[in-house]
Amino acid sequence: MPFTALGLIPPLAQAAAKVGYGEPTPVQREAVPAILAGRDVLASARTGSGKTAAYLLPLLQKLLDSRHDGRRDVSMLVLVPTRELAAQVGDTLQGLVQALPQQPARPLKIAVAFGGVSINPQMMGLRGGADVMIATPGRLLDLVAHNALHLGSLSALVLDEADRLLDLGFADELQRILDLLPARRQTLMFSATFAPEIETLAGRVLNDPLRIAIAPESETTAVPDIAQRAIEVDASRRTQLLARLVKDEKWTRVLVFVATKFAAEIVADKLRKAGLEAEPFHGVLSQGKRSQVLADLKASRVQVVVATDLAARGIDVVQLPAVVNYDLPRSATDHVHRIGRTGRAGETGVAVSFVTEESEAHFRLIEKRQGFSVPRERIAGFEPAPRADVAPVIDHAEVPGTGGVKGKRPSKKDKLRAAALLSAGAAADDEKPS
Ligand code: AMP
Repeated sequence: MPFTALGLIPPLAQAAAKVGYGEPTPVQREAVPAILAGRDVLASARTGSGKTAAYLLPLLQKLLDSRHDGRRDVSMLVLVPTRELAAQVGDTLQGLVQALPQQPARPLKIAVAFGGVSINPQMMGLRGGADVMIATPGRLLDLVAHNALHLGSLSALVLDEADRLLDLGFADELQRILDLLPARRQTLMFSATFAPEIETLAGRVLNDPLRIAIAPESETTAVPDIAQRAIEVDASRRTQLLARLVKDEKWTRVLVFVATKFAAEIVADKLRKAGLEAEPFHGVLSQGKRSQVLADLKASRVQVVVATDLAARGIDVVQLPAVVNYDLPRSATDHVHRIGRTGRAGETGVAVSFVTEESEAHFRLIEKRQGFSVPRERIAGFEPAPRADVAPVIDHAEVPGTGGVKGKRPSKKDKLRAAALLSAGAAADDEKPS
């Protein structure tokens, strides 16, 4: 089905083809006609589904169609949770505009703003206004406070990765932004899930929305074009095994997830010592460094990026052949986001999870939530040492003088609790990016 069948004008369909989009993806097939018709939309679509183009293409068409009175007040605002996603959405939109067969008579001005960098260049960039603003909520409010932009003429608002916006604690900022916007506007919400807080937000901001559920509503169902592997290994041998896999499997680019910033640094360092081009990626690095690492990964200057969950959402590195859970994710939802970094838009990918004795129970929980199990493998030379719970246990009841010590051997429940604690304590790296 061509893009024009969805109501897109031929120049936009040509631009979509030129940037490499094939047939419209399922979320595009449903969202594009509805957005063109002016409807509000609530879509559950994971990153990788083509959701960004699903809202950018029709909104761009409306922008190209609209008449201008010469002023440049923001008419389209895209709110995103992270700097990386802001930059990525900005790049995608810029790419589509540049791919138009003919540039609009009045050039479109696209502004991207996020926290963590100086506000002054962003304010300078907004002189003379902007047609499209893509921003993280905190920085957007800063810009409004500096009188750098006006939102009174807004016609379309997009909340991209709305679940993540709420997860990162942006609810208050969102409300303050909503209070600044005209009531008559088109609003589009994209979220990985239809969790209750998303439904509540949708109830407040959307008007009779078209609901689109592309990913099954249970967001934990894994994505079919990704092969999942679970390798049993001792925790202390994971780095060696990782280095071996990268070489043996000939992964040209791999994203490795660890639980802490510290682990990201250490593992990347050890991989470098093992002769691999590896870089850490986490929230303490400067914005410049983070952008550099991603650009290097995209350009294959770096082969392995060792990241905290900061990188799990939003980042689109096309054709990432492999993702490795060096440390397991905290939840099944995070697992889906992590493994969604591979196998993007029709590519096949592999997601490998390292399962240690300590994390086995937690991995079983993730499998249960995602609705299927992953067979355990062992790699020759990296077989785990015999497990403690099959090692001989001294029965204290039989040792004179000690008495029976109830519960000496951890119960299944204890192990599950320990695994949950382990993962909850695994220092989150989610930052409030603005
Ligand atoms: P997103 O879900 O927006 O993160 O998009 C994921 C990837 O899919 C991006 O690399 C897009 O370039 C790509 N993409 C979007 N739409 C299409 C399409 N219709 N055909 C092929 N690739 C697409």
